[in-house]
Amino acid sequence: MDFATPSKRPKADLVVVPCFKTKKGAVLAATVSDLKGAVTPILKAGDFNGEEGATMLAYLTGKTEKRLLFLGLGEESCTMEGLRRAYAAAMKRCQNKKWPTVNFLLPKHPKLAVDDVTRAVSEGIALSSYVFDEWKSKEGKKPFFIKKANLIGAKNKTIPAKTLKILSGVNLARNLINRNALDITPQALGKEAEKIATAFPVVKATILNKKALEKEKMGLLLAVGNGSSMDPALIMLEYKGAPRSDDLTMVVGKGVTFDTGGLNLKPTNFIEDMRTDMGGGAAAIGLIQAAASLKLKVNIVAVVPATENAMDAHSYKPGDVYRAHSGKTVEITNTDAEGRLILADALSYGQKRFKPNRIIDMATLTGAAVVALGEERAALFSNNDTLAKLCEKAGETTGEKVWRMPLDPEYRSLMDSSIADIRNAGKKRAAGCITAAIFLQEFVEKKTPWIHLDIAGTGFIDAPEHYHLSQATGFGIRLLIEMIECLSSK
Ligand SMILES: [Zn+2]
Repeated sequence: MDFATPSKRPKADLVVVPCFKTKKGAVLAATVSDLKGAVTPILKAGDFNGEEGATMLAYLTGKTEKRLLFLGLGEESCTMEGLRRAYAAAMKRCQNKKWPTVNFLLPKHPKLAVDDVTRAVSEGIALSSYVFDEWKSKEGKKPFFIKKANLIGAKNKTIPAKTLKILSGVNLARNLINRNALDITPQALGKEAEKIATAFPVVKATILNKKALEKEKMGLLLAVGNGSSMDPALIMLEYKGAPRSDDLTMVVGKGVTFDTGGLNLKPTNFIEDMRTDMGGGAAAIGLIQAAASLKLKVNIVAVVPATENAMDAHSYKPGDVYRAHSGKTVEITNTDAEGRLILADALSYGQKRFKPNRIIDMATLTGAAVVALGEERAALFSNNDTLAKLCEKAGETTGEKVWRMPLDPEYRSLMDSSIADIRNAGKKRAAGCITAAIFLQEFVEKKTPWIHLDIAGTGFIDAPEHYHLSQATGFGIRLLIEMIECLSSK
């Protein structure tokens, strides 16, 4: 991404001209004096309404660009998320038409600061520059990406550079989620973590193999991994961007590399996307990549319990009881509620080893979270109002939105077991995403501020939409970077 002022635009194939929608039709959202003569009669004709994401093409003669694309932003009150989506729509037009160089005019927004506008536009452009095409034959339709995007009217040039650094983590997560389950194994996730540690000296990777897990008595992670031909692993990535501070955020990400459901086997229509059940772990690893690229002055440790939940004669069995790393015993009432088991061991081991000031876990945990909130918002659970509010605010800023759900102690009775300390799946289907969070809470020390994000709906969407041109979204990385930056500025 490059920069220029409106009067000194470089030559390009296209200029994107943003418009607001008003009662009287579309009006210009940016001022470019040299285009006024061309633009005014077209807008006056009234064919273009300025609806968010709407586009209309016009041809220019004797101007810096050959073509002009009107881009609707919606009403003047449009949000940063609206800007992201609108500029992603412009990107799609450019990609379809294979225009290599594009001047994107930034809108003058009545409420948003120019830096926020720059950020939203650069995020919309960068997020929609990713597709997953590794399996498309060369002769097939290869996607086209613009070669040069010039942001016209941006003041702070560090903002798009920052966006691209964050996107390096988001796209890593998207790749890990999109790829085949038999390629992205627990060991392959470990290798990705080691690659980051090699690229950034401030990052340290530690991987506990099966033997080490046995030594540490991680009974739940081992139980889930028992039916797989691949060993489970606990992947830890420490980023020390503030070596003199002892403040530490621990991010735990669920890394189930394929979830068959175990002996409680998933049926058709529920099993097809289960390679994406490591979306939380991918986001935790991508977060470290982003934080290290940004050189954030904070300390973060990512802890990813990674395993397949497969099925064979050695699979862990419904009705059996296993002992967690924390010492608590768990009755397995459903082998498909495996995510909370591996997270429980990662949470208690991570707390013991790293003594973090706060914990955030991310997991594609329950279908119930998708039933409740769809793909628009992740379910947020927390034992700390301040941290929860910060997360909600970061969600609105980044467009990775969350919705807080309850953790009332009354729900605990749904997890009572007659033979163990707790059962792993609720007695009833009711409140499924809450009982999962209640289970996790049993493994978090009460005094430690903790957030659990159920990203089952937001991590991998049904179909490409807005600025996501592939199903894996990398949800959580932009949200957590925003949160962690806010925390460190306090
Ligand atoms: Zn499962």
